[in-house]
Amino acid sequence: MQGKPSMHHELAATVMARCDELAAISAERHGLTRPAYTPALRAAHTLVTGWMRSAGMTVYEDAAGNLVGSYPANRSAARTLIIGSHLDTVRDAGRYDGTLGVLVAIAAIEALQRQELRMAYGIDVVAFADEEGLRFGHSFTGSLALTGRLTPEVLQINDADGVSLAEALHAFGGDPEMLAQDARRADDLVGYLEIHIEQGPLLEAQDLPLGVVSAIAGASHCQLTFSGTAGHAGTVPMELRHDALAGAAQFALAVETIARTTPDLVATVGELTPHPGASNVIAGQATLSLDVRHQDDDMRAQALHELQSRAAAIAQSRGLHLTWEDRQQWATVRMSPHFREQLRQAVQAVGYTPIELPSGAGHDAGILAEFTQAGMLFVRCQGGISHHPSEAVAVEDVAAALKVVEQFLMQV
Ligand SMILES: [Zn+2]
Repeated sequence: MQGKPSMHHELAATVMARCDELAAISAERHGLTRPAYTPALRAAHTLVTGWMRSAGMTVYEDAAGNLVGSYPANRSAARTLIIGSHLDTVRDAGRYDGTLGVLVAIAAIEALQRQELRMAYGIDVVAFADEEGLRFGHSFTGSLALTGRLTPEVLQINDADGVSLAEALHAFGGDPEMLAQDARRADDLVGYLEIHIEQGPLLEAQDLPLGVVSAIAGASHCQLTFSGTAGHAGTVPMELRHDALAGAAQFALAVETIARTTPDLVATVGELTPHPGASNVIAGQATLSLDVRHQDDDMRAQALHELQSRAAAIAQSRGLHLTWEDRQQWATVRMSPHFREQLRQAVQAVGYTPIELPSGAGHDAGILAEFTQAGMLFVRCQGGISHHPSEAVAVEDVAAALKVVEQFLMQV
């Protein structure tokens, strides 16, 4: 049931051109920054709405501002397969993270329409309005709302300008009051599929265009503060110092060592802020972020325990006070065995070696996987680079993804 190869390449080229077009829609003059519920996201929705309509979909926005294109089934009272990803971005983003998944889904529907194919199930292409959480510091808002699990407190979170999420959503045309009523029912769904760039180097290293996601790794975000004694850089002798920054630096190196010696563990100190932060002052306080991820939740818990004792030991040996705050954590989410199998078969049928890999990054698929059967297809990206303007994807790989999605739709 494959269409002509030329059709997939033509559609893939269109996907690439549309990614370029959307990359120009930014809330900032330089670079691509498209936070949730902004005029920039509205402009992106307007463009994507046109593309959804020309692929034969009816288009609406749900109460959470997610853009939905519906392609009907070949019979009434059918269930729905959602193919989704997100159109919001991080700051100074690449043009494929999220966007590629939405546009490949639209192209897959376009391919069905051209072949005059309808499935026994309806297909909703969903562009989530807030996945990255850039504006409100809260991730997966769109998919949490769609699955009826957005807690009311989240609506009260303010952005940097003091605008609450509820106000921003209302101004965008959504309806904070209707979120619960508008949520999907799991019984109505066939499942959820997401296509996304890998954001890592594994596919490139194996010379493969596509990979099937096995699980989305659990993560813990913590914040640590080492407190010591501020002092003059010229007058306090070394042996009398309680240098908070030196303690924090020692901990950052310990994080690296522990992660390197624990299989499959990744741990990162990405932020480190000394106070008062002057070149001639011994830091009295240093605050750092800690991001710990592992596919095995027990291994992650064990690593956190080890890191906590290491931090305490460093603080004690330096006469520092330590506070440790657990900020947010997510358990590992496995993708549905059935969808994984279907995706592996589809990859094989299209002529590639099917491999599975875990996702170190969080995705809407992780939220949906707790609601319905979910599957995820990764597309190779150059150098594994993501969340950066130099994000790059090959048009041939996009064509391969399109073929696999079409094959998956026939099988599932
Ligand atoms: Zn993404």
